[in-house]
Amino acid sequence: MPSLRSRISLALIRKKLPEIVAADPLGDLDDGLHVAIVGSGSPLPDEKRGNPCTLVIAGGKVYVIDAGEGASETINRMGIDAGLIDCLLLTHFHSDHIGGLGSVNLQRWVAEGSSTPLKVFGPPGVEKVVAGYNAAYELDRGYRVDHHEPDVDPAIGAMVAEEFPVPADGESAVVLEADGLVITAFEVDHSPVAPVVGFRFDYKGRSAVLSADTVYSENLVRASKDTDLLVHDALSEELLTMVSRAQTEAGNEARGKILADVLDYHATAPQAADAAQKAGARALAITHIVPPLPLKGLEEVFLAGAPDHFDGPLWLASDGDLYSLPVGGGLKRSNLIGRRR
Ligand SMILES: [Zn+2]
Ligand SMILES: [Zn+2]
Repeated sequence: MPSLRSRISLALIRKKLPEIVAADPLGDLDDGLHVAIVGSGSPLPDEKRGNPCTLVIAGGKVYVIDAGEGASETINRMGIDAGLIDCLLLTHFHSDHIGGLGSVNLQRWVAEGSSTPLKVFGPPGVEKVVAGYNAAYELDRGYRVDHHEPDVDPAIGAMVAEEFPVPADGESAVVLEADGLVITAFEVDHSPVAPVVGFRFDYKGRSAVLSADTVYSENLVRASKDTDLLVHDALSEELLTMVSRAQTEAGNEARGKILADVLDYHATAPQAADAAQKAGARALAITHIVPPLPLKGLEEVFLAGAPDHFDGPLWLASDGDLYSLPVGGGLKRSNLIGRRR
């Protein structure tokens, strides 16, 4: 005989299941441009922050920008139906930005059933990454198609690479235009890693810019002119240097060196604020936070006075954050994790 507790749990889940399956958190959104932070962390293991991934939601469609490990799990925790994903855009091919591609594709395929293959837009290199994922998942696709035919189209599981050229320095180029949304790309500076592009999203008079991984970049400042929201990467020199030294002193010299190398290819929080100020951005969210901040009090150390560099609101992004820019004006900030169930 099952315990009373297990019988109550089963009855509860039976009652709630139809509501959970039918939930549509995007149905409540105003017409506008919405930026949802899925992963606000970096490749460094972080209990609070996942690998980089951001969603842009406009015109009822979801666009995924980068998909680090764990992206599909967090998208699910945010209550967003993977079947709404229109396409994926990659800023560059560092592992923390592509490690979750296979799972995002699978979850979308399952949610959407037999529809269209997932397009993955990116600068040169995207074909290699997508071909690699498609090869690695070929057996899995075969198992699933054999098992679920004839209701699932066998061709659906593989992703399709859509390469675009990197715009010349000082220029932006449209990579996608659909349902009132215009997505433009511009080059940023994450050297020695290249190519790396940031993206600007314009929808019905509202705009947002995602910096990707970059140091302070004049190209980004130009592309972010008067934007409603700049989402910029940042690291703390003080904290990262401290962690790097601690690793070296503990005898982990390779780890210490790798961490020290990270210092020169990301902006600091004050530099991100300088970029936002110079661009005339109206709000700034800082993401790709390096290193992890296990104590709340370290957030001020991480910011290193950045709010003094920027006149608008400035936030450290968290996983699940939703920045909503309704058509007509305003900015609303909320968090989608834990709200649904
Ligand atoms: Zn990177
Ligand atoms: Zn990164």
